[in-house]
Amino acid sequence: MKHVLISGASVAGPAPAYWLHHHGMRATIVERAAAVRPGGPSHPMDYAFATFSTANFLNLDYSGLSHVAGDRSVNVFASKHNTEARVMFMFPAQDVPRNRDAQQHAVRTAFAQVGWRAQDLLAAMPSATDFYFDELGQITMPTWSTGRVALVGDAGYCASPMSGRGTSQALLGRTCWRANCPHKTLTSRPSRSTKPHYATT
Ligand SMILES: Cc1cc2nc3c(=O)[nH]c(=O)nc-3n(C[C@H](O)[C@H](O)[C@H](O)COP(=O)(O)OP(=O)(O)OC[C@H]3O[C@@H](n4cnc5c(N)ncnc54)[C@H](O)[C@@H]3O)c2cc1C
Repeated sequence: MKHVLISGASVAGPAPAYWLHHHGMRATIVERAAAVRPGGPSHPMDYAFATFSTANFLNLDYSGLSHVAGDRSVNVFASKHNTEARVMFMFPAQDVPRNRDAQQHAVRTAFAQVGWRAQDLLAAMPSATDFYFDELGQITMPTWSTGRVALVGDAGYCASPMSGRGTSQALLGRTCWRANCPHKTLTSRPSRSTKPHYATT
């Protein structure tokens, strides 16, 4: 019986493990995090983003709005069937702070001169219970696989936070990987059927 080692127990790891088991193979998943991890991407791009939920006071109807002010942007989308709004501020930043008060101060400073509804949305930030802040990172891979080792999910083809759908891509990658991976061998290669999806996302 084939036995596959999978590194990472988030989205792209358990999905192929499920299907390998379904097709009569064994899969062992290793996960370095002891619990749900608060961290994010790794390679700095000198950009940061902050996101949180608030009331849908802009009355967005399954829609979103973006306001671009030079090199920074304010984005707000209806969420949870229009009962809430999801806010995202993106801005240039280096050496991002690691505590919440300093992070919110950095966001306020970056958007202090921005008009539109930025100040209303900033006012909602301190009371948000799901405030999340991180720096943006990107690693460009020349290939998604080598020999019998393949990258799926964010490790191979991470979506932009502005496009979303990273979880879908992680699951879809498993499907296309399997479609391009005859069971007699576990060697993988970038998938012809997957690439158009990533290009459009
Ligand atoms: C703030 C935020 C909001 C998002 N919102 C959405 C959204 O609304 N919709 C959406 O579809 N996507 C969203 N995404 C993207 C989505 O979370 C990712 O695309 C998805 O989690 C990718 O899954 P993955 O399994 O490929 O990678 P990850 O979720 O990054 O999982 C990788 C796992 O591997 C583990 N690991 C790393 N190194 C090792 C090692 N050496 N040994 C063992 N284990 C290791 C890590 O601990 C981790 O558990 C969001 C991401 C962020 C950060």
